[in-house]
Amino acid sequence: MTVLNIGIVGCAGRMGRALLAAVHDAPDSHIAGGTDVAESGWVGRDLGEVLGREAIGLAVGDDARALFTVADAVIDFTSPKATVLHARLAAETRTVWVLGTTGTSAAGDAAVADAATKTAVVRAANMSVGVNLLIGLARKAAAALDTEFDAEILEFHHKHKVDAPSGTALALGAAIADARGQDHDKVKVLGRHGVTGERRRGEIGYAVLRGGNVIGDHTVVFAGESERIELVHRAGSRDIFARGALRAAHWAHGKPPGLYGMADVLGLTD
Ligand code: NAD
Repeated sequence: MTVLNIGIVGCAGRMGRALLAAVHDAPDSHIAGGTDVAESGWVGRDLGEVLGREAIGLAVGDDARALFTVADAVIDFTSPKATVLHARLAAETRTVWVLGTTGTSAAGDAAVADAATKTAVVRAANMSVGVNLLIGLARKAAAALDTEFDAEILEFHHKHKVDAPSGTALALGAAIADARGQDHDKVKVLGRHGVTGERRRGEIGYAVLRGGNVIGDHTVVFAGESERIELVHRAGSRDIFARGALRAAHWAHGKPPGLYGMADVLGLTD
């Protein structure tokens, strides 16, 4: 078993805490350290305190360079503003970088691509192993079934979510369209109401539910004549993103420089 020293930037955030707990509890991982910004109020306090547990003798830092230098891999769920700096440090120190931050700028994307020429970078908008498996399964099913089966996607999220359909639902639709040789933008139907007319062959329809504190459910339906296949994923907590990111860090350790996704980590790229 290779034990990795994992650094967590943004360790006082919602995902940062989930990551600290995941690394702390994993037998094959050690916490190399954690950083956050001064405004978080956590810099200088013990990482165990961030977790609400006993002190572990490591304080929250604010020096990302020092963390990238000592860590085997750094996991980053912070803010798009931090992406360029972290990309530069990953490149300079040749440290595995697992990037979960979403909404990065064009400059951030360019910095990520540049870092990936120097070190292994894993980037995914959804790091859950289960969701990425679902995307891979939907892709395989779509390729096998073609447009003879009607593909529909249903997603259900908590009442605070501000966008619809979810990015994950759209990623599922894009994977289905790609597997069937379609242009997703031309076949997606984001809602139906009134007299819609009959369903067109090859459409990918979306339905959205909102309510309560549902973390995120996604269902892909392939409806054929007299038979129906349903693939379902239900998220129970944000720990699934942390566990996926940790798995990505271990997978990427020792890999050549490159920009990888969760499909690579899970062996779903064929
Ligand atoms: P959050 O606001 O709770 O946490 C972000 C943390 O990063 C904060 O503590 C903040 O102070 C810190 N931070 C900001 N700039 C920093 C810097 N330069 N250096 C160090 N720390 C810094 O947000 P969150 O809910 O944890 O989400 C963080 C990011 O992860 C968002 O972009 C979110 O969309 C994304 N996310 C991705 C996935 C996925 O699976 N890829 C899952 C959940 C969230």
